Amino acid sequence: VRLVDHHCHGVVLDDLDRAGFEAYLSEGGPPAPGETNFDTPAGLAVRRHCAPVLNLPVHASASSYLERRAELGGVEVARRLLASTGTSAYLVDTGHNPAALTSPARLAEVGGGTARHIVRLESVAESLFPGDPGSFSSAFTERLAATVASVRAVGVKSVAAYRTGFRIDPARPGETEVARAVEAWQRTGVARPADPVLTRFLWWTAVDLGLPIQLHVGFGDQDIRMTEVDPTLLTDWLKLHRVPVMLLHCWPFHRQASYLACVYPNVYLDVGLTLPFVGPRRGIAVLAEAAELTPFTRLLYSSDAYALPELYHLAALTFRGALSALVDDRVSTGEWAAADGERFASMVAHGNAERVYGL
Ligand SMILES: [Zn+2]
Repeated sequence: VRLVDHHCHGVVLDDLDRAGFEAYLSEGGPPAPGETNFDTPAGLAVRRHCAPVLNLPVHASASSYLERRAELGGVEVARRLLASTGTSAYLVDTGHNPAALTSPARLAEVGGGTARHIVRLESVAESLFPGDPGSFSSAFTERLAATVASVRAVGVKSVAAYRTGFRIDPARPGETEVARAVEAWQRTGVARPADPVLTRFLWWTAVDLGLPIQLHVGFGDQDIRMTEVDPTLLTDWLKLHRVPVMLLHCWPFHRQASYLACVYPNVYLDVGLTLPFVGPRRGIAVLAEAAELTPFTRLLYSSDAYALPELYHLAALTFRGALSALVDDRVSTGEWAAADGERFASMVAHGNAERVYGL
């Protein structure tokens, strides 16, 4: 069954030395002194599951893995690891570190399949910094629409989880409120917007646009304050509109996200970023928990892979294993008809994404 990866990033095709590789292998960045990121669930999964794709024995050592990687070269490594995922379409968030990563077109060329753009709201806002407080609202609205049209984007994304968190007023802010927030933002001298009023303004502009809105939820790097990114904090905002909201990754709040999908008709979720980092065995439990209450029409696949093609490979492998474990269990115990199991698997693997994003 083919996969639609509804949230991912480009890969690094340049050859990486050990430090470069390890820094991308953890959401925490480079390893702590005296440690290696190969001693993590993701690191062990690379040695177990990516090594054979590079013609090495399973559990090859970290150094022989990196040697073989250098021998094959970044492009060939990416080609093999991406092809193994069986991904037919990549929806690529181009908002983070675009200079170091492949463009969506190049990613699709190396990996096979097609690529579509997801536009990051905060990047569009940053492109207007320092801006004019009085006209920021209209300038942002125009620039977002123009950016979406120019790349034929199929969705937008917000990284508010990394900036303000979700404990914010759900209401649409007024023009004066936005102008005051832009003034305060200008005074910080930093292009990175981290003001709750701006977050609300960006989200509501996205609601007006009507494309699916991806929100980073839960697990992420050190900028996440985990207590502020529980998706149930979005409850009041979710009541105010009906535009699809795609809750990405969600760990450890995947059960809260599952609940929201159960009660709000416009809420969707995945356990993307989580999968490569928990590895194939725990991925079975995590996906099963994410599916506990979720309507089968609202669960999606993403890898949230970034920089290392290994993360695409591990995400797809973990997802496929977890999905077939779930379906096999329900079908073999007689809970579901075999035909329903097949239908569910193809909806989650690609059908739901194709429908919501109009692919
Ligand atoms: Zn991402």
